[in-house]
Amino acid sequence: MQTSKINVFLSLVIFCFICGCKNSEHQQAEKPQQPIEKWKKGSVFNADSAYKYIAKQVGFGPRVPNTQNHKNCGNWLVKKLENFGFKTTEQIGEVVAFNSEKLPLRNIIGKINPNSKDRVLLCAHWDTRPFADRDSININQPIMGANDGASGVGVLLEIARIVHLDSLEIGLDIIFFDVEDYGAPSYNSNFVDLNSMNDTWCLGSQYWCYNLDKEYLKPKFGILLDMVGGEDAVFPKEEISRQYSGYHLNKIWKLASYLGYGEYFKKKIAPPLTDDHTYINKLAQIPTLDIIHYDVSPFTNRFDFGRFHHTHQDNLDIIHKPTLKAVGQTLLTYLYNI
Ligand SMILES: [Zn+2]
Repeated sequence: MQTSKINVFLSLVIFCFICGCKNSEHQQAEKPQQPIEKWKKGSVFNADSAYKYIAKQVGFGPRVPNTQNHKNCGNWLVKKLENFGFKTTEQIGEVVAFNSEKLPLRNIIGKINPNSKDRVLLCAHWDTRPFADRDSININQPIMGANDGASGVGVLLEIARIVHLDSLEIGLDIIFFDVEDYGAPSYNSNFVDLNSMNDTWCLGSQYWCYNLDKEYLKPKFGILLDMVGGEDAVFPKEEISRQYSGYHLNKIWKLASYLGYGEYFKKKIAPPLTDDHTYINKLAQIPTLDIIHYDVSPFTNRFDFGRFHHTHQDNLDIIHKPTLKAVGQTLLTYLYNI
């Protein structure tokens, strides 16, 4: 993702406004009866454990599609979900990148209570960017993606470990999407057509949306995690999330504040983004919100994804356990109270 894509979404926002009534009616029907103050405290999210899962992924090296590191990490993720009692499948396919390169695709899908109609989707991307196009050095080298990729997956693996031990009553789908971060580089001047450039991101989730099984038990809503481990993370209320999944967005942000994580989950509203949730909302029609580090940069005065975004600084050094705790504990508490 990159900030220059914001304008592309004006038309989508208009679309969202048109569809907003339908979604909010749907969401009202799911409203929990209890006020937050009376919710169950739920299980304890272990940030040390989530950090280890992030370090393990980083230990494989950059997880760029079509590389051995990527294969090895994918194998490990499948095993972890299976070990946590998830019914795990892989969606294998092929997608074409911005540069016409054909890339193998591997979406990893785990389910708890697979036959329950009352289900939630949690997702993150597990691939990492093949270049460091926002760095000043070695821009053609892949990034480690400790935050951009591994952090979301690390938090979800820790949630998977806990729901395995502390039986969750609802159904849960965890999806690790592939090929999210292979979008056209910002230095490539060939991509003057913003619309065509835009859809070069999130190829794994797009593939998943376009190939949904007719029998698929659609989750009632979804939560996407992207860049949720940075030391100075700020999670705003992003516009696509607000429009499609405003009810859950507001509830989760309120819960985060109640749990003491208001410094991360800010009430500020951010412009719409292209991320996996954009396609899940638009194509799969599952109301899905994005918890993503996106804040006004002190350098440019524009919304941005943090100083380490798509650079070689995105390594384990910038992963901050209190941020992982804020996100993981909020999600876990929400899961046990809906
Ligand atoms: Zn990225």
